[in-house]
Amino acid sequence: MESTIISTTPNTMQLFEQISTNNHEQVVFCHDKASGLKSIIAIHNTTLGPALGGTRFWNYANDADAIRDVLRLSRGMTYKAAISGLNLGGGKAVIIGNSATDKSETLWRRYGKFVNSLNGKYITAEDVGTNTADMEYIAMETKHVTGIPEYMGGSGDPSPVTAYTTFLGMKASAKKAYGNDSLNGKIVAVQGAGHVAGYLIEMLVKDGATVYVTDIATDKVKALQNKFSGINAVEPDAIYDVKMDIYAPCAMGATVNENTLSRLKCAIIAGCANNQLEDEVVHGNAVKNMGMLYAPDFLINAGGLINVYTEMLGYNRERAMGKADKVYGLTLDIYNTAEKENITSHQAALMLAEKRIAEIAKLKSML
Ligand code: NAD
Repeated sequence: MESTIISTTPNTMQLFEQISTNNHEQVVFCHDKASGLKSIIAIHNTTLGPALGGTRFWNYANDADAIRDVLRLSRGMTYKAAISGLNLGGGKAVIIGNSATDKSETLWRRYGKFVNSLNGKYITAEDVGTNTADMEYIAMETKHVTGIPEYMGGSGDPSPVTAYTTFLGMKASAKKAYGNDSLNGKIVAVQGAGHVAGYLIEMLVKDGATVYVTDIATDKVKALQNKFSGINAVEPDAIYDVKMDIYAPCAMGATVNENTLSRLKCAIIAGCANNQLEDEVVHGNAVKNMGMLYAPDFLINAGGLINVYTEMLGYNRERAMGKADKVYGLTLDIYNTAEKENITSHQAALMLAEKRIAEIAKLKSML
């Protein structure tokens, strides 16, 4: 596989140029006028196995944004599976629309048929804007879906396990920064009050952290405040200015960028969002030069993928949590490698993932 660290792909690039920049294998555009389905499925790399990644339902400002997102997200899944020791490739899908108003049984089942037409090369699951009920509809048309409800024999919502590995990555980062992994008394600013953030905040509160939270959907913030007393709400744009120890991006990607870096006065960036660095090279280096620790997103948010992978094998909670537990030690290893090699933590994590992909590719080529 030819791939090293890359910069952000500008929207203005030609489609095939975008696809070839990161060496994607296949990109499928799916359309159904009757149900209003507009979807893109991107398969980045299947060296390690079928491409598994969730379906994001989001109202993109334009098609170029949707393409850019699905290409970045699917690439991240390749590295997430590789670094987590899973036999999975990287893929992801987006559906363009409003998740609050545009969902219907026919849209999901039509989408399920498109997923099925890929014969298992792409396997779907939940992501932003989708949930287990949506997976249930998809499962009516294809077996290539995970994160299906427990009553159907699935492992349910992957978010609690994603929150767990994110929490472990955050604690390992605290250990590296402070010599002690307790978050007691630490101020954590959480961007997003969605599925993963809710479980993460529960763990933070239990560990004694002071939590600030924001979401563009204010009702979700209110619901969390009702559930956990003492958590503080801030306006969406004010989250970067909170006097914090840890910034936890748990909404959309690219929030660590030129505009936010001068405002983020924290020791650690550790959250569950995918693709937190707008540009892996530029902003990865900026974070390093500012003396902040960045817990690589595709490493610490791997819990959900680990959980749905275990579902594919025949779900066993203990096995999933056992694999998830490894994120703590791996995060520390990555910080130590980055320090030793004088590279960013993101680069160190990519190197480890790419090493495994190259080794397994070689192994597969043997008789
Ligand atoms: P979700 O849809 O439940 O929550 C995302 C929340 O972010 C929503 O409430 C949305 O309103 C909010 N949001 C969007 N833009 C925002 C902004 N600018 N400011 C504040 N809030 C904003 O999604 P989720 O499943 O909790 O996923 C959150 C992130 O974690 C995503 O980046 C997702 O790709 C990533 N992730 C999720 C899982 C999982 O298991 N669900 C696994 C790995 C990675």
